[in-house]
Amino acid sequence: MNATLDTLNADPQELAKFNALASRWWDTHSEFKPLHDINPLRLDFIDQRVSLAGKLVLDVGCGGGILAEGMAQRGAEVTGIDLGTAPLSVAKLHLFESGLGVDYQQGSAEEWARRYPAQFDLVTCLEMLEHVPDPASVINACHTLVKPGGHVFFSTLNRNPKAYLFAILGAEYLLHLLPKGTHDYAKFIRPSELSAWARAAGLEIQELAGMSYQPFTQTYHLGQDVSVNYLVHCTRMC
Ligand code: SAH
Repeated sequence: MNATLDTLNADPQELAKFNALASRWWDTHSEFKPLHDINPLRLDFIDQRVSLAGKLVLDVGCGGGILAEGMAQRGAEVTGIDLGTAPLSVAKLHLFESGLGVDYQQGSAEEWARRYPAQFDLVTCLEMLEHVPDPASVINACHTLVKPGGHVFFSTLNRNPKAYLFAILGAEYLLHLLPKGTHDYAKFIRPSELSAWARAAGLEIQELAGMSYQPFTQTYHLGQDVSVNYLVHCTRMC
């Protein structure tokens, strides 16, 4: 990493939060349970649209590697980048357990975009945009990183009263799925905002899909309801 945290598009408090929790990343009953629960859904969503086998993939904000490993398991050649040192250490250690191969590197999307423009078939940036000061800059970098015609996937939390109720009051205060303070409502991103930033970057929106939580069955479903957590599939215009 060449830049200091001051000059990076990163929030030191957010990174510290993930560093502190990192040891529990692969514990499916920990704070990361929601990421484990949604992982099969988002992997299927990506794989059905892009066919992961043999693809060169960059996972931006990979954390402990839940998505990155899933993509590697489906035959993709995955590089995972993150600015957090502890999540990256956990991700690297977990490869010994899984026996999978992922190239984990410390870096920001913007720095990688300067070094590796148009290098990847597919760029994923899931559950990360709501933790950075300037999400549009990350979206721009993802556009630069993917090859013309290639695919970019984002996911984040919507900003509306229902998302506040589910993601903050529900998940953090009532169900204790997440520690209090995990999410900052003001940083949640409406689909219209994400779509506008993506289009301005030169990405074409292909599809939006929602991942919704059913409190009674305690399961997640993929569907049309983008009111809380949603995925966006984009392609880079040539
Ligand atoms: N994408 C993973 C992890 C999401 S948690 C998944 O969905 O399973 C968010 C991750 O973003 C954390 O690991 C955190 O360290 C990382 N992060 C936050 N700000 C970042 C930044 N500016 N650059 C790179 N990674 C960042």
